[in-house]
Amino acid sequence: MLAGPSSELVASPTAFALIAVGEAAAGLAGIAAAGAGAYAALSPQSQLFGHTLIAGNDPAEAALTFDDGPNDRHTLELLEVLARHNARATFFMVGQHARARPELVRAVAAAGHLIGNHTETHPWLTLKPSTLVRAELTATNAILEDLLGAPVRFFRPPHGARRPAVLRIASELGLTTVQWNAMGQDWRPIGPDRIVSYASRGMAAARRRGRGVNLLLHDGDGLRLGADRAATVQATDVLLTRLRQEGTRTVRVDAWAG
Ligand SMILES: [Zn+2]
Repeated sequence: MLAGPSSELVASPTAFALIAVGEAAAGLAGIAAAGAGAYAALSPQSQLFGHTLIAGNDPAEAALTFDDGPNDRHTLELLEVLARHNARATFFMVGQHARARPELVRAVAAAGHLIGNHTETHPWLTLKPSTLVRAELTATNAILEDLLGAPVRFFRPPHGARRPAVLRIASELGLTTVQWNAMGQDWRPIGPDRIVSYASRGMAAARRRGRGVNLLLHDGDGLRLGADRAATVQATDVLLTRLRQEGTRTVRVDAWAG
């Protein structure tokens, strides 16, 4: 079942979602058995499996990062909010969504935001053979570079899950792997206030460690188009107002790359 052809999975998003959940459960069980390996593979800030980019050392900088788009209405609404606050953000896009909505990819880039690779079909890469990892990254680079006319330099693994081979393949493709140090938990239907609350807690913790903020939010769903991310759009508006009031600068993650 896990090795089912991708065309079949794409044709049936529900089946894909169920398979993905099954994969996640199987993978997490296997990883848990490996003890410390779980932290290295899944903790967004672990560096045990190789270097990943998280944030710079200036607590007055914050990168808002949006995963799983592009996604019709909510990506465009986010662009409006970001423009109103004169903020630049980073969007880690799913290749098959970019293929389906090329005009949204171009709109995000035209507004001055950074676009990164979030794989073609949003799998758990810890569970995939290296050939498939490479295919996922290469396909997404191809569609994004075709649309943008420039190389893609940044990659975020779905669910933050990786293993040494994933980081090595990304590096061979010229991609810097990016994680995060704060999140809004907005993949759950929790409403804008709680998203702001989770994000604020994570941002405060990052600053206490003397780090900039790399905040994970979602403008789409990794497995399907049309997800409702209205709460994320509202939360982003609130967060950008607060960041400005406290004197924090919003940056794209490439501000922290060497
Ligand atoms: Zn994702």
